[in-house]
Amino acid sequence: QKSTSLSAPRMFTTHLKEKIEASQKILEGLQHAIQYKQLYLCYQPIVSADEHVPWAFEALLRWDFNGTFIGPDVFIPLAEKSGLIKEIGAWVLNRACMDAKHWQHCADATVSVNVSVIQLMDDGFIRQLDNCLQSSALPPHRLHIEVTESTFAENESKVLFQLEQIRQRHVKISIDDFGTGYSSLSQLQTLPVNYVKIDKTFVDNINDKGEAIIRATQFIAQELNCKTIAEGVESLDQAKMLASMGVDYLQGYYFAKPMKNDDLIIWQNPISNS
Ligand code: C2E
Ligand code: CA
Ligand code: CA
Ligand code: CA
Repeated sequence: QKSTSLSAPRMFTTHLKEKIEASQKILEGLQHAIQYKQLYLCYQPIVSADEHVPWAFEALLRWDFNGTFIGPDVFIPLAEKSGLIKEIGAWVLNRACMDAKHWQHCADATVSVNVSVIQLMDDGFIRQLDNCLQSSALPPHRLHIEVTESTFAENESKVLFQLEQIRQRHVKISIDDFGTGYSSLSQLQTLPVNYVKIDKTFVDNINDKGEAIIRATQFIAQELNCKTIAEGVESLDQAKMLASMGVDYLQGYYFAKPMKNDDLIIWQNPISNS
């Protein structure tokens, strides 16, 4: 209510003002980040649940703002609000395809790229995707697109149309952060998705209520011919439990943290099951 904010304590308004100023500073910096080559991608392995063999690598964006590291949790939402995400997202997609094309150590591995709903809904997105596939010469089946569950709260028919276009190109689609939004389970039947990513919050709680949610997700996903990926796996115990529940793929610090592309090329999986 307006009256409350007008009479809000001074400390609160100062704090808010500082927050807004900080956001503006980040946004200004971000505008030059591409040009100044401050953005780079790290890749985190996703392994098979049974033998812990690398199958895919998720591209995660990093920003070194003149020596200060700012996390994507901070700058991606700002980039989305400002529309800058379109330019940044285009750079990410292109870089990821280029890098993956040259992964000679695991030449069949897939690269999984996070795509914001704003980027997905942009009319130029499909053309951009085609250009990336063409210029990188990456086979389309080696590219996955991750869209968060909240994406489907937007203009649903447009989202479906875009996902259908992606699928026609044989690029696979994952639903990210599954179970954290609402409406999830029933929506799965209408969406052209291939993978469901079980959110870290459920893996964290696997010894408590998380287990029931993971089992329910696993059941529905199987019925609908989707494979499952559990994220945020931090221990062998969790990995074992998830595998025993039938989860197909695992990702998390237990296996590896996100790595720079150069480190990825020399990375040897230390904890393969075989
Ligand atoms: P996300 O897509 O859910 O990515 C997973 C996040 O969990 C990553 O954080 C990853 O580093 C972290 N993570 C992975 N395994 C573990 C684990 O075992 N334990 C813990 N504690 N964390 C783990 P990160 O890299 O900070 O990214 C945060 C979010 O920023 C991502 O969440 C994604 O939503 C967004 N993001 C990152 N890169 C991009 C991008 O290129 N485009 C878009 N649109 N969003 C991005
Ligand atoms: Ca993701
Ligand atoms: Ca996720
Ligand atoms: Ca998550």
